[in-house]
Amino acid sequence: MTDWSPNSWTTKPIKQDVVYEDAQGVQDALRKLEKLPPLVTTQEINNLKASLRNVALGKAFVLQGGDCAELFDYCNQDMIEAKVKLLLQMSLVLIWGANKPVIRIARIAGQFAKPRSSPTELVNGVEMPSFRGDNINGFDADPESRKPDPARLVSAYFHSAATLNYLRASLSSGLADLHSPLDWGLGHVITPSIKEQYSKTVNAVKDALRFMRTVGIDKDRGVETADIFTSHEGLSLEYEQTLTRLLRNPGSAQPTSNFYATSAHFLWIGDRTRQLDGAHVEFFRGIANPIGIKIGPSMAAGDLVRLLDVVNPNKEIGKVTLISRYGASKIAQFLPAHIAAVQASGHLPVWQCDPMHGNTQATPSGVKTRHFTDILEELRQALEIHRAAGSFLGGMHLELTGEAVTECVGGAAGLTEDGLGERYTTFCDPRLNEKQALELAFLVAGFYRD
Ligand code: PEP
Ligand code: MN
Repeated sequence: MTDWSPNSWTTKPIKQDVVYEDAQGVQDALRKLEKLPPLVTTQEINNLKASLRNVALGKAFVLQGGDCAELFDYCNQDMIEAKVKLLLQMSLVLIWGANKPVIRIARIAGQFAKPRSSPTELVNGVEMPSFRGDNINGFDADPESRKPDPARLVSAYFHSAATLNYLRASLSSGLADLHSPLDWGLGHVITPSIKEQYSKTVNAVKDALRFMRTVGIDKDRGVETADIFTSHEGLSLEYEQTLTRLLRNPGSAQPTSNFYATSAHFLWIGDRTRQLDGAHVEFFRGIANPIGIKIGPSMAAGDLVRLLDVVNPNKEIGKVTLISRYGASKIAQFLPAHIAAVQASGHLPVWQCDPMHGNTQATPSGVKTRHFTDILEELRQALEIHRAAGSFLGGMHLELTGEAVTECVGGAAGLTEDGLGERYTTFCDPRLNEKQALELAFLVAGFYRD
């Protein structure tokens, strides 16, 4: 790799930069982070990469989901369990629907930093610096709390570590045991029709497991646990740089090494920071992890191919996940040309549909929301467009939470704009609640079974 190092991004123009007043504090935080152990291992990162290769080849499906923005306060038992259970339930439904293995990637244990459209925002009539995420500044609506505080970078590491620790412990203690998926707790608020469909799916899985046990093939096949990989937007490059380490490639016959970003298994570049000559692309081109790139209506097809050439010059299959987010009304206009350009280039990425970020709208009273029908419609069109082009829609990328929030409109329970105020708790974008997310999984599973 020519002229790359974990900090070569500092020589490039950067978007969404954070300006700290406390330069010494930043240096102290970075020196501290550099000494701390990786949060994930090279073996795990490479396992995910191999799995995503299978997705690119059409042999598996990937489900990615979690909060738009995690707060440090989300690092608690109930919220972690609720999110993990929801992802497990959804993946079970998708396995049944797509008849393929499902790779699970959570937006968790590090999804703190947020790109913002404006450096300032109006809170209760007062103009102040925007909230940039718990790893940067405080949400409290006063200018002092909104000052970027470098100590938060270290706090982000420890909150990620605690979240990941509980996630790993829960999974290895049987939280994801397929023998008892009903213990994954269907929420109390679930609608009867979803509950019935879910029970049917679970019974089909149980039958299959009984059969496997009878003929003795359920040993060591991984039915007692599941993998959940972690991911976040690689926005704060100071932070990512400190956790990017030159590490030996596991399993290589000759001792070879690569730079691995060890803050999570999977990092993605946001729609606002993917400039070809920019700092984020520079950082991402040097890491061995599987990476994502958000693409929307503002991406020119030629630039998309140039970007793939920069971050994946060897055209490794599945190394890059293209996370498309056009909006239900625009996908038909943009996705076909993006697919055609990528096909002509010889790259084979994972294509994932993010039906959330192109479908955000404000209610007449100014509440940010998304409509379930738009979300489903973008997914349906993505699937059709890929099929028509001889391409494979390998996954979906959702903003969701295990809590019974009221942030997105629609779904079987009929949440209306008037009901949004009831439990609107997001600090950033509106998320699907447990019921809406599971319902969406059933509907998407149905698309694949059709
Ligand atoms: C996000 O995924 O929360 C996000 C900010 O997305 P995008 O970069 O696609 O706008
Ligand atoms: Mn978001």
